[in-house]
Amino acid sequence: TARASGLGNWAIYHPEMTRSASYRKWIEAELVRAVNGDEFDLVYQPQVNSLTGETVGYEALLRWTHPKKGVIPPSEFIPVAEKYGLISQIGSWVMQRACEDARALPPGVTVAINVSPIQLKCDRFVNELAKMFEQTGTRPEQIEIEITENVLIDDHDAVRRQFRSIRSLGCSIAIDDFGTGYSNLGSLADLPFTKLKLDRSLVARLGTRENGGAVVSTIVNLARALDVDILAEGVENEDQVVLLRAAGCRLMQGYYFGKPVAFGKPGDDESRAAPLQKLSA
Ligand code: C2E
Ligand code: MG
Ligand code: MG
Ligand code: MG
Repeated sequence: TARASGLGNWAIYHPEMTRSASYRKWIEAELVRAVNGDEFDLVYQPQVNSLTGETVGYEALLRWTHPKKGVIPPSEFIPVAEKYGLISQIGSWVMQRACEDARALPPGVTVAINVSPIQLKCDRFVNELAKMFEQTGTRPEQIEIEITENVLIDDHDAVRRQFRSIRSLGCSIAIDDFGTGYSNLGSLADLPFTKLKLDRSLVARLGTRENGGAVVSTIVNLARALDVDILAEGVENEDQVVLLRAAGCRLMQGYYFGKPVAFGKPGDDESRAAPLQKLSA
């Protein structure tokens, strides 16, 4: 097993190890150490009003830099953290850091925090969020909670209760990766979220023969009918910007507008504040 062979040996990677049971085991062991150490950081990607060019918010994205392996993407370690009960601890760290960082932003600019459905299921979650606002002095209006569309297949009443509690704190809620899951569209209407985030796979299909434009327009109209914002993710080129605008979507996020950017060294308030001010200028 990973443990028996000694973790040191696992610093050398073979591609075929990725997603294998032993790789997950290794990640699990390393995560336990990482959550207690200083290996996580957040990077921030701008969310832009494409009509005015104005940055309206930033999405906080988690990065894990392993001392030996280097950067491990969230797609590899979040599922492991979820499976082995580490996501709440990691999620708390993310929440605190994002709240601290949000204080450097102008009042109207939001910070979006990704929250795992497992965190959301915890009764403690909303209390913890409230405590975080108290501790950091961050205004809840500046925080947007992002939850993937998959949450909509969970117990509807429980999800609605949690959404209501989050909203009553003053935060907004975005449904992430929308358009890829198999959510019950009828059940959307009575959930108090404030934004749909169009998944980047749908943006990528724009302008192709697969008639992606019709799907995007339909989702934009759905957002309108529900009276929520719509934001397109994964926007990579100007053609997509033009097609999205034509479909009625003006909020966008993606490499075309800016890649996720690091904030500076943890604990160093001055260097942390500087890059963000630069970004928001
Ligand atoms: P997501 O929330 O949908 O985040 C968007 C992902 O798309 C990010 O990947 C971002 O770097 C990437 N992206 C942004 N613009 C573009 C683009 O123009 N083209 C392409 N190809 N990709 C783009 P990342 O940072 O690797 O995160 C992957 C996923 O991991 C996130 O998807 C989110 O579900 C999860 N995640 C990230 N941070 C956290 C966190 O703090 N907590 C939790 N629970 N999940 C997180
Ligand atoms: Mg997200
Ligand atoms: Mg997303
Ligand atoms: Mg996505």
